[in-house]
Amino acid sequence: MAAIDREAVLDRLRTIQNPGSSSDIVSSDMISGLTVRDGHVLFSIDVDPRQGPALEPLRQEAEKAVEALPGVLSVTAVLTAERAAPAASPQPSPPAPAPSGGAGRQIVIDGIGAIIAVASGKGGVGKSTLAINLAVALASQGKRVGLLDADIYGPSMPRMLGLSGKPSSPDGKRLEPMRNHGLAVMSIGFLIDEETPMIWRGPMVQSALVQMLRDVDWGQLDIMVVDMPPGTGDAQLTMAQQVPLAGAVIVSTPQDIALLDARKGLNMFRKVDVPVLGIVENMSTFVCPNCGHESHIFGHGGAKEEAQKRGVDFLGEVPLDIAIRETSDGGRPITIAAPDGPQAAAYQAIAGRVAEKLTTEKPRAAPRIVVQ
Ligand code: ADP
Repeated sequence: MAAIDREAVLDRLRTIQNPGSSSDIVSSDMISGLTVRDGHVLFSIDVDPRQGPALEPLRQEAEKAVEALPGVLSVTAVLTAERAAPAASPQPSPPAPAPSGGAGRQIVIDGIGAIIAVASGKGGVGKSTLAINLAVALASQGKRVGLLDADIYGPSMPRMLGLSGKPSSPDGKRLEPMRNHGLAVMSIGFLIDEETPMIWRGPMVQSALVQMLRDVDWGQLDIMVVDMPPGTGDAQLTMAQQVPLAGAVIVSTPQDIALLDARKGLNMFRKVDVPVLGIVENMSTFVCPNCGHESHIFGHGGAKEEAQKRGVDFLGEVPLDIAIRETSDGGRPITIAAPDGPQAAAYQAIAGRVAEKLTTEKPRAAPRIVVQ
């Protein structure tokens, strides 16, 4: 089968009229972020914020047109818009303070106050564990919280939250999020069998996140916590760019090597203009399960120092504690299993700081435009 390339995609898109002018959508500079990899095509159509929802048919037309090209395996087109000035469109009062950072072109989801990313420079540092316990802690502080497992390389939410089965779709179009522990949850892990090899790479990775945001009926949420895939590669960068993130929380362990990676994470969000809310040091001190003695196996305080050096806030530290792992593995995060214990207190403190930062940081612009 002929390999599909950018030029062929652009040629096809040139056949589609820009409804707002006499030229086509390519000549009108509406196409951006075109990625073509192994037959998977991803691109954005930049539109006027006020016209976002009305242009859904244009998005579908563009998708269909490209799908019809030989050699194309999948197409994901998203409507994006430069951030509207706050006064550009009437604002329904958001459910919570809705600061929102991020670069210009993004999909924006209606009804979600603030989307925050939990990210790490590398895997295995406790990112998912933090995302879950942070979400539970925020919910226990009275927020309506959604949790999106975008860690498509190793989705762990279903297991860590004790959820199984498939999400339902009452209208056959949008999926209902799964629910447990007071959270609305969506994970690529619900949609794919655990045995299925993870071949979600490049554009597919990106489209998975867009689809989980756009095609899930999240309802009204104050905060959405997104568990990002580990690392700072292209896929992560594109995710950070496409989703209207109010901010990012970077998780790091005390080891230097992890800190180097954490620095990459900081730089990535800065590059796409997403405010870094702060750094969390995970597995900070080791608490002996027998005697309660604390020791600093990997050293301690490196993340705090790094945060200070880089001019970002230090959000708190979480001890290396076997109870945290056992409860996660058992599907009941520690903030649920032992809400009054010292481990939960650590997560509660971090959640409190995150919530406060979302309220006090100057909103750059309100997120608007409905995709769908
Ligand atoms: P990541 O998302 O960064 O890959 P996970 O959250 O999946 O990391 O954590 C990796 C493993 O470490 C899991 O088994 C988890 O239960 C465990 N873990 C995470 N944080 C802690 C902690 N503070 N104390 C003990 N175990 C932890």
